[in-house]
Amino acid sequence: MKHCLKIILLALLGSLLIACRHNGISERTEFVIGTVCTVKIPQTTSAENILKDCFSELQRLETILSANSNSSELARVNTTAHKKPVAVSDELFELVALSKKISEQTDGAFDPAIGALVKLWGIGFENERIPEQAEIEAALPFAVSDNIALNMQTKEIFLRSKNTKIDLGAIAKGYAADKIVMLLKKQGVHSAVLDFGGNVFVLGKKFFTDEDWTVGIRNPARKNTELAFSLKVNDTSVVTSGIYERFFFKDGIRYHHVLDPKTGYPVRNNLASVSVVCKSSAYADALATAFFVLGYEKTKAVLPRFEKNMRVIFIFADGSIEELRNM
Ligand code: AMP
Ligand code: MG
Repeated sequence: MKHCLKIILLALLGSLLIACRHNGISERTEFVIGTVCTVKIPQTTSAENILKDCFSELQRLETILSANSNSSELARVNTTAHKKPVAVSDELFELVALSKKISEQTDGAFDPAIGALVKLWGIGFENERIPEQAEIEAALPFAVSDNIALNMQTKEIFLRSKNTKIDLGAIAKGYAADKIVMLLKKQGVHSAVLDFGGNVFVLGKKFFTDEDWTVGIRNPARKNTELAFSLKVNDTSVVTSGIYERFFFKDGIRYHHVLDPKTGYPVRNNLASVSVVCKSSAYADALATAFFVLGYEKTKAVLPRFEKNMRVIFIFADGSIEELRNM
């Protein structure tokens, strides 16, 4: 720790990386894929170019995966793929296929077909509101991933109804992190920190040491970056879903952005946040959302379906903390 000039908190969202400022580090931060993204790597003569490539790749992924742009490839699928199957990029196909699989593995708690419900609530956007019960009931049957048909040979997506809309907001940041980690490894970078709006990936060991990284989990009860928990990890992703990320209050009730696909309403249980620690950031992202929907007991039941050594940290509304490990 003697190299540390000070501890800096890298993000205001769920998982926080507690890092040391070090002269030998190159870093770049940009607003892309709907959030503030930072990548840090050891300084070398090619580091600046590698970081530039990382952010070009993130810009490219945004033009494919964004649910909030009318011109993304996903938007094209959402507006036209109910008429006839649409051939899509490898990335979009891969991520929709993975999302369908995770939806099955989580008994529908994570569902990429939730797009119309997300738009109905508009949480975090100017038009956020509590929809009429009738609107929610009308949207529910279309928000199931069985309505997304994939042709593995032609890489085409077909939507079985014009009311089914795909939203990858609960997995895309993690998927993007995995892609950037692949790019870094290809460039010979074996130690890096990625923080995509609180979705953290720590590649290898802490810069210039043989030590683990320290990743903090935010205390959901506080507005600031006070930590509830910290983890010593390496070569892994830590992703958190919580009630404090995007929400509005109406009549004293908090309406937040994680929806239960079975009811169409923001999840109301005894949880404040769920963090998932595992090798795949796409999985960590999707499962943080899914386990938040499922709650502690149901997560315990489904956890053996996933990667060995996966860790799940639950922070409850009363401030208590529980951890599950997939042994
Ligand atoms: P996250 O912050 O990763 O939990 O993702 C939340 C975002 O994913 C929301 O803003 C929605 O766009 C979308 N979403 C909300 N609930 C679900 C769900 N149950 N399954 C899949 N996506 C969801
Ligand atoms: Mg997620």
